[in-house]
Amino acid sequence: MTKRIIVTDPMPVLKETTKPVTVFNEELRQLVADMAETMYDAPGVGLAANQIGVPLQVAVIDITNKEEEEPRLIVLINPKIVKSEGEQCDEEGCLSVMDYCAQVKRFDKVWVEAQDIDGAPLHFMAEGFYARVIQHELDHLNGKIFVDRLSSLKRTLYKKRRKKQLKEENA
Ligand code: ZN
Repeated sequence: MTKRIIVTDPMPVLKETTKPVTVFNEELRQLVADMAETMYDAPGVGLAANQIGVPLQVAVIDITNKEEEEPRLIVLINPKIVKSEGEQCDEEGCLSVMDYCAQVKRFDKVWVEAQDIDGAPLHFMAEGFYARVIQHELDHLNGKIFVDRLSSLKRTLYKKRRKKQLKEENA
C-alpha cells in the first residue's frame, strides 16, 4: 500500500469523466489499497480515483466513527445511482477543495448499482450521511466537485479565493 498525493482543484483530472473498470485484477486491488490508505491518512470519509489522478470509476468510502468503531471499507467500482428520493442539506467539504466548506443539497436516499472489487454486482439503498458521501464521490467520477453544485455567486467567491490562495502559494 502506498499513500498517494491527493490532487486539488483546479487540476484538470478532477473535471474529467472517469472510465469504467473492465478488468478486475491485481492492479485494481493495488489501486484500491492505495486509495484506502490515502483516504484513512487524510483523514477523509471517501475518495474517488481521479482525486489521486487515476481517471477510473473507483471510489472508496468509510463512514464509521473511527474512535468508536472498527473501520469498514466500502469499495464501489463502476457505481451508478439508479433511483433517488427525498432531500437533505448539510455542510460538505472535500479533500480536493482546500479550506472550504458549504451547505450542499443532496438526495436523502439513493439506490446504487455497482460492482465489488471482484466484479460481482452490488445493489443497495443508502440514506442520510452515507447517501451524501456516495453522491459526493459519484460527482467526482463524473468530473464534478461539490462547488459545482453551489449558486453561481458562491462559486465565483470560491474561485476568487482559490486564485488568491494559489498566487500566495506560488509567491
Ligand atoms: Zn471530494
